[in-house]
Amino acid sequence: MSPTKITCPYCWQSIEIEEIARTSDFVELVTDCEVCCRPIRVTATWIDDDDEPSLEAEPES
Ligand SMILES: [Zn+2]
Repeated sequence: MSPTKITCPYCWQSIEIEEIARTSDFVELVTDCEVCCRPIRVTATWIDDDDEPSLEAEPES
């Protein structure tokens, strides 16, 4: 399994997050940026049988 990487929407650093469990085809979670410690809302969307989800990171307001 490759590490899951996202870009922080605040400081634009590339950070690694835990592998997201595919409990459904759309999973949303909030994680803290390890660089600037601000909360990031991460949405993972799986399309068909792809192993790798499409990830979006946006500020948690
Ligand atoms: Zn950050």
